[in-house]
Amino acid sequence: MAKIVILGAGLTGLSTAYHLEQNGCFDFKLYEKESTVGGLCRSVTDQGFTFDYTGHLLHSSDDYFTQFLTNVVGLNELENIKRRSCIRLHDTYTPFPIQINLHGLPSDVIIDCIEGFMDRPKEKANPKSFYEWALQKFGKGLTNLFFVPYQQKLFAYDITQITASWTGRFVPETSLRAILQGSLVAPKDEDIGYNANFFYPKKGGIQFWINKLAEKITSPINTQYTVEQIDLVNKIVTFSNGDFEPFETLISTLPLDRFLGLVKESAATSITKAGKKLLCNSVINFNLGISKPDISDKHWIYLPEEKYIPYRLGFYTNFSKEMAPENCSSMYGEIAFLKRLPQPSTQLVASAITQMQELFKFESSDIITQRVMHIDRAYVIYDFWREKNLPALHTALVEQNVHSIGRYGAWKYASMQESLLDGKAMAESLLNKNHTPSGYSQPVNVSEIPTQTETPEEQL
Ligand SMILES: Cc1cc2nc3c(=O)[nH]c(=O)nc-3n(C[C@H](O)[C@H](O)[C@H](O)COP(=O)(O)OP(=O)(O)OC[C@H]3O[C@@H](n4cnc5c(N)ncnc54)[C@H](O)[C@@H]3O)c2cc1C
Repeated sequence: MAKIVILGAGLTGLSTAYHLEQNGCFDFKLYEKESTVGGLCRSVTDQGFTFDYTGHLLHSSDDYFTQFLTNVVGLNELENIKRRSCIRLHDTYTPFPIQINLHGLPSDVIIDCIEGFMDRPKEKANPKSFYEWALQKFGKGLTNLFFVPYQQKLFAYDITQITASWTGRFVPETSLRAILQGSLVAPKDEDIGYNANFFYPKKGGIQFWINKLAEKITSPINTQYTVEQIDLVNKIVTFSNGDFEPFETLISTLPLDRFLGLVKESAATSITKAGKKLLCNSVINFNLGISKPDISDKHWIYLPEEKYIPYRLGFYTNFSKEMAPENCSSMYGEIAFLKRLPQPSTQLVASAITQMQELFKFESSDIITQRVMHIDRAYVIYDFWREKNLPALHTALVEQNVHSIGRYGAWKYASMQESLLDGKAMAESLLNKNHTPSGYSQPVNVSEIPTQTETPEEQL
């Protein structure tokens, strides 16, 4: 019996295994349902094109992460890129972030944004929703121009019903001076925000750096092992091939809702029903290989307006020329929908591709290949139920020696950097009990959260 069992060999599971080994611990087993490791950080090749499960860019704001990229991946294997991104609004492009780049937009739009910023409501310590947070930070004009339509399209959820606790480093703040300057002076893409610079593998897509990480793990990685049941009473994981694995400590990086759906628990506990309350969206990721070079000079483009089907587009060949054959371009688009709702029709995806042809001036006959990929769980919805109940849910699991970590295990909005660091913190906390793992949601002051329609038994 392995002392530690890790479920899922995406980035977080691999990082946990790697950091256990780095700390001299080899008494673990790692299981993954797919035949290849990497989870969301995998890449596929198709007729000379390499596509990711939508563009995955390596943003580093942490010394250890940079050190990891340097020592384990090798900086010479990575492009170091300065962002070129923009937002399409009112039939023009303005660089990201909008809150300092209004120049070029219709004058009444700019005036609304400036007025709105000056009249914005006074900041409260705990805004009730993302919508309220955006109003307080940016005012009505910018909120209605960008934050409402974009975030609503991205999350596929009413943003008055989600919290702002995820915003952190993801949404740069602004000032009156910056707004005025960005309205009067020709736009520029400044080094603002967490994604101003990024690394990207020179070849092989995002899978390249995951392979580098996996190569460093000496213990076997058991692929094609799909978890079918987690018996918390007897502490045994059963797989769909009939194998089973007892554990002392379980590290799960499976999506928390799916994990809870597989749990067999004692009559004394009642954690499994929470799985049905966890909300997320799904993303349809369409990838195009195009027989024309340089269809755009951007890395990615935000499309907040409803008339465009995707919420965001990106151009792989601007991350690395190796992503496509010579004289070709490749791009991706992302369409979000609430996971509980039916998937968008293939007709909608076809219409989105037609919109791309119109925007970037290529014909159907220029498309060498198109690959549509479905990201079943993409963005966790930070609804009020999650905010109120998630910390208790994780505590209940930890009491059973189960740590549910990573983007979907912790049920949060996390980058690759954070996922790698979560695996490291987990490994270190297991080997040194004084060290607390990071990455779980922190308990919140529930009195600040508006009550939703919920019955007492829905609370954990
Ligand atoms: C649309 C989108 C764009 C993103 N872009 C970026 C970006 O540009 N930059 C960035 O830093 N981050 C980005 N991310 C975030 C990044 O993808 C995640 O932080 C990271 O991949 C999470 O890794 P993970 O191991 O926690 O989860 P996952 O990658 O989901 O890994 C979980 C693993 O568990 C396995 N598994 C699931 N069910 C079972 C089962 N029943 N049995 C066995 N195994 C199972 C899965 O196959 C998978 O391998 C993006 C995410 C999304 C959705």
